Amino acid sequence: MPEQSVSGHPLAPAWLPVPPDAATLDPVVFTSQYARDASGCVTVDGVPVTELARRHGSPAYVVSERTFRSRARGFREAFERALSPLGVDVAVYYASKALLTSAVARWALAEGLSIDTASGGELAVALAAGVPGERIALHGNNKSAAEITTALRAGVGRIVVDSLAEIELVAALARELGTRAPVMVRVTPGVHASTHEFIATAHEDQKFGLSLAAGAEGEDSPALQAVVSCLDAADALDLRGLHCHIGSQIFAAEGFAQAAQRVLALREAVASRWDVVLPEVDLGGGHGVAYTAADSPRGVEEIAADLAALLPAVLESSSLPAPHLSFEPGRYIAGPAGCTVYTVGTVKTVTVEQGVQRRYVSVDGGMSDNARPVLYGADYTAVLANRVSHEAPVLSRVVGKHCESGDVVVKDVYLPGDVQRGDLLVVPVTGAYCWSLSSNYNWLPRPGIVAVGEGGASREIVRRESVADLLARDCEI
Ligand SMILES: *Cc1c(COP(=O)(O)O)cnc(C)c1O
Repeated sequence: MPEQSVSGHPLAPAWLPVPPDAATLDPVVFTSQYARDASGCVTVDGVPVTELARRHGSPAYVVSERTFRSRARGFREAFERALSPLGVDVAVYYASKALLTSAVARWALAEGLSIDTASGGELAVALAAGVPGERIALHGNNKSAAEITTALRAGVGRIVVDSLAEIELVAALARELGTRAPVMVRVTPGVHASTHEFIATAHEDQKFGLSLAAGAEGEDSPALQAVVSCLDAADALDLRGLHCHIGSQIFAAEGFAQAAQRVLALREAVASRWDVVLPEVDLGGGHGVAYTAADSPRGVEEIAADLAALLPAVLESSSLPAPHLSFEPGRYIAGPAGCTVYTVGTVKTVTVEQGVQRRYVSVDGGMSDNARPVLYGADYTAVLANRVSHEAPVLSRVVGKHCESGDVVVKDVYLPGDVQRGDLLVVPVTGAYCWSLSSNYNWLPRPGIVAVGEGGASREIVRRESVADLLARDCEI
């Protein structure tokens, strides 16, 4: 029977619209760096993806430098503009775990951001990129002594401490080095947010942070105990403030405001008991992006404005001067700046049940270059990128080449009926948490990262792995 190509494919999720024309680049996910040229080829900042694949190979991560930088700058400016009328200074730390290379770190720095790292490796890359120590933050729930020492030697601007034992460790290492460590206490405010919802709870069951909820028998909360131990170790620790991070893919401001309220209440308690005004509060990252047409994040300008509208009530409940606020966006900046270019191989249609078929379009990568569908059930979309087809759209599943049946890149997407071996697909919004989560599963060489710069010049900012790279650490060859 013919493949089904009109609305109501029984296997299509309800949110997936049948495109009137599968060549259309939906502006929700194909942001301003994308277009089609006269021959129908998708371009990234004016460069046809056919040319990128020819020059740099396939699959390839492609990052628009302009988009990355304008999102970094746009985030910073949106929060500065919204919060400065409230007398609140803003700093933005790019959460480098989303995507980090030395070029990426320099882009963030050049746009006035600092860099948030969560391991010795991320710290090393930021330092190698020339990021000044004072513009780097070090996070992590299990920092090693070596990581802390490296951070202290580099003069990092803040170490976000995550446990009472770590406070003692940082203090001891700072004393050994004859320095004073700038620290923030990571608190778990009991606010968990994603997309448009947040939930508020009293107790926390997670590895990160120190709870704001009082302990048994009404003893001080772990967060307050942490503040006290930082203040007690004032010879070695410079307590800069409080930090929280409430989730990811957050589309609304309310969760941030609720978290701010709880964190500022702790700041108030500290001031009234010890007469210490903590100057800084960090509200973390988690600002959401659209991966498919089903997502509708509020723009960062709107989130900043919403937060600015909610904050006065929060600030007025405290007698203290407003703190400096900082944010740590990762996905928001890097996600939409990147895409993955794949080459189509095997195309196979299977019968799922009587009269219902699904088309599998296999590409030359998969879960090794994008683990998010497997890890989180994340949805993406894709388009036929090397040409325009006027064949009717067919519900398709884009899959990788790994030995796992769960190796899905795009679970459900309508692609033209004549997609065939050798075609190129572009999967947008793969700039965050794809390259950084990539692996060599099945010994696939990891793709390089191609940056498209001003004026349409493309260059590899990380080169593709070779077979020699795959063998390089095998000690018995
Ligand atoms: C992961 C993380 C971020 C960034 O999260 P995004 O969802 O990429 O914005 C920021 N801060 C902390 C502490 C994190 O763990």
